[in-house]
Amino acid sequence: MSVEVFDPHEAIVGSFTVRRVLPRRTLRTVGAWCFADQMGPAEVTETSGLDVGPHPHMGLQTVTWLMQGTALHKDSLGSEQLISPGQLNLMTAGHGIVHAEEATRSYRGTLHGVQLWVAQPEGERDGPAAFEHHAELPAVDSAVGTFTVLAGSFAGAQSPAGFAPGLLGVDAVLHAGRSDWPLRTDFEHAAIALDGEVLVGDAVVRPGQLAHLGTGRSEVSVEARDRARLLLLGGLPFTEPLVMWWNFVGRSRDEIVSAQRQWLDGDGRFGDVPSRLARIPAPDLLWRSSSGAGPA
Ligand code: MN
Repeated sequence: MSVEVFDPHEAIVGSFTVRRVLPRRTLRTVGAWCFADQMGPAEVTETSGLDVGPHPHMGLQTVTWLMQGTALHKDSLGSEQLISPGQLNLMTAGHGIVHAEEATRSYRGTLHGVQLWVAQPEGERDGPAAFEHHAELPAVDSAVGTFTVLAGSFAGAQSPAGFAPGLLGVDAVLHAGRSDWPLRTDFEHAAIALDGEVLVGDAVVRPGQLAHLGTGRSEVSVEARDRARLLLLGGLPFTEPLVMWWNFVGRSRDEIVSAQRQWLDGDGRFGDVPSRLARIPAPDLLWRSSSGAGPA
């Protein structure tokens, strides 16, 4: 089974240029993971950070995971949460939520992290919004490195984060060396290189790139030539017909049209979050490729 390696493309989110590897035309999802941005490393100050103003989401969960620095999350549930490396922010949009990513007022330095989205399954996607902050996650130390479990379970450790079953997310900080990682054959898997060059199966994966492993593997061989960092994503293949547009994940064009109209009209569906940043208007509904106004 060969490994297919994809290059990221650049997009603008707030004041950051990000490297996006999901979704792409030929790979919409990996399990229920439907979006993956790597942001930074870039310098932020007390008053200038990610700077993403209030914007809505529906039908998805957002995962924020930092390798370096501190960021501030605010949402329409009243959450206001600083996040640092090793911690997980999980926001569930369900029927609707609004959030903003602001400067911290306290941190100056480098910011480097990922933001991921998970498509919610049919039975949950119209449910209530929620926000979880996990100050610590389970980690497994081995001879080849440290594996932190963000979602699902891996190597005997289980994430406490509230994802639907059938999802996997693992951040691996690796020393030089080779190891075989156990995988579920019914899961689809991919690995995103965060730092350093890694050999995944027979493919060289460089920072920012995504290696798609597909389904049906009981293990994968990973070799780091030097210190490296790899994000393993996986899950049961997502078979529901997704329609993704801007910050919305739905099942039909009609749902997207309604959501866009409701946000533009200031409908109460999504709620509100006080922010020093301006609310982000929904772009025009042109059904075009991802070269248009991007998500946040
Ligand atoms: Mn967002």
